[in-house]
Amino acid sequence: MSQVQVDESLVRNLVEKVLQHVQTGWGGRVAPTPGAGVASPVSAGPPVRGAVQADSRFGQFTDVDQAVAAARVAHRALMQRSLAQRAVACDLIRNICTVQADELGRMEYEETKIGHPPHKPEKLRLVSRIAQGIEVLRSECFSGDHGLTVEEHAPWGVIGVITPVTHSLPTLANNAVNMIAGGNSLVVNPHPSGWRIAAHGARLFNQAIYEKLGIDNLICVIGSPTLESAQKIFKHPGVDILCVTGGPGAVAAAMASGKRAICAGPGNPPVVVDASADIANAARCIVEGATFDNNLLCLSEKELFVEAAIFDKLMAALTNAGACRLSPDQMDKLAAACIDKDAATGHYIARRQFVGAEPAAIAREIGVEVPPACRMLFGQVGTNLHPFVQAEQMMPVMPVVSCRGFDQCVEFALQAEHGFRHTAVIHSRLVDHMTQMGKAMDTTLYVKNGPSLAGDAAGGEGYGSYSIACGTGEGVTTPLTFTRTRRCTMVDNLRII
Ligand code: NAD
Repeated sequence: MSQVQVDESLVRNLVEKVLQHVQTGWGGRVAPTPGAGVASPVSAGPPVRGAVQADSRFGQFTDVDQAVAAARVAHRALMQRSLAQRAVACDLIRNICTVQADELGRMEYEETKIGHPPHKPEKLRLVSRIAQGIEVLRSECFSGDHGLTVEEHAPWGVIGVITPVTHSLPTLANNAVNMIAGGNSLVVNPHPSGWRIAAHGARLFNQAIYEKLGIDNLICVIGSPTLESAQKIFKHPGVDILCVTGGPGAVAAAMASGKRAICAGPGNPPVVVDASADIANAARCIVEGATFDNNLLCLSEKELFVEAAIFDKLMAALTNAGACRLSPDQMDKLAAACIDKDAATGHYIARRQFVGAEPAAIAREIGVEVPPACRMLFGQVGTNLHPFVQAEQMMPVMPVVSCRGFDQCVEFALQAEHGFRHTAVIHSRLVDHMTQMGKAMDTTLYVKNGPSLAGDAAGGEGYGSYSIACGTGEGVTTPLTFTRTRRCTMVDNLRII
């Protein structure tokens, strides 16, 4: 055996270099956790203050720095696990949404006090049916004379999430399934009027995931959230991208943050019924879609444009479908009671106390009594510029406009949608009309001869989500919405043909 001469200065140099790597992170990445094996090459983002102090359990935080630090640790832990284990985490969330739907739905209503209580559990059960998981993460391969290229869907890391009061826990649960399937963790700033149910749900989800997989804090929720905590998330260097579900203010703030923002913003979905439509079916579908959770959904039917030739028949059919008709005068009075005009923008905005209220309570505001079984108030309004047409009212009150013909229906529908590109609905048997309106509206969801909900997989084909990103163009969100495409190329080899 030959003796190897060791140069002492060489060894010292080597040790110094290793120490330097350990202190600064491996090539800008965080060093592997002792005992956790080799960290996968996932960007851990910039060093995060408080990273070692994140000792809160099951996603309960009040401090944004702490929440982000814990979410980063959770994300790194998730990256050590298989896709199958991500699927397990998603199934645990789905299962809680199904098995505990009644109790969680009741808690959501008790806190938010908006919507129709029997629909709350249904909204949670929907999550388990419509939210997509790891099955959509299909890699793409290109093989040819020059070898093999593979494209895979990589996580962003930590996603800053804003959820609405209208469906606090369903949105959080749906986002969590999509984002965890994509390999991410979440820091959630819920609506201040719905944060307790969001935090409670996150506790259940995190606890179940921890007990099964040993990873905590994949979903970190900010308790007692404020606009300041939202801003802190928007600007936080440890947050990689944003997903905002809410109204125009929230969307504008996220877009101004400087981070990539996936924005599921407002809608004001118009419905057109032409003279060829199956009128009884149209009325049934309109009442079903517009009354789900008292019209809280962004995609729910909000105003109705009808060809004059069938106006009377449709009004009668709406009554038969369980809605209560008001006179044009009563519709005006109701608008004065329920809708404000923003002095600065001139936009009509629903008063908070009527959002998601029951029809009987809304009618009482103008001294009208309707039976408790009444699911929706409706009535003719004299102009398409009526406040109930222009506002995203989010209450079970349907303004109906009689139009000269189909072209005018579409013209009014386009104006009322305000360019949100969210949802539009048509009831017609004429393919030409369906096509004409579809092209004109240019909306993310376009539903023909069904309730609006069908466009989000509730009664229609396909998958769904509680975050429909219209303005920023991602559409109905899936795990792919929350991934980056990465490519790996092997040159002149690995092709087996
Ligand atoms: P909202 O805009 O009042 O609040 C939504 C969320 O944004 C809340 O968490 C709120 O705290 C936050 N927020 C509001 N202004 C903010 C700001 N300036 N900076 C940071 N955060 C801010 O809306 P809401 O009443 O809770 O929800 C209803 C709205 O959300 C409707 O406009 C509805 O259409 C929309 N929405 C859209 C979708 C969709 O998929 N496109 C789904 C649900 C709700």
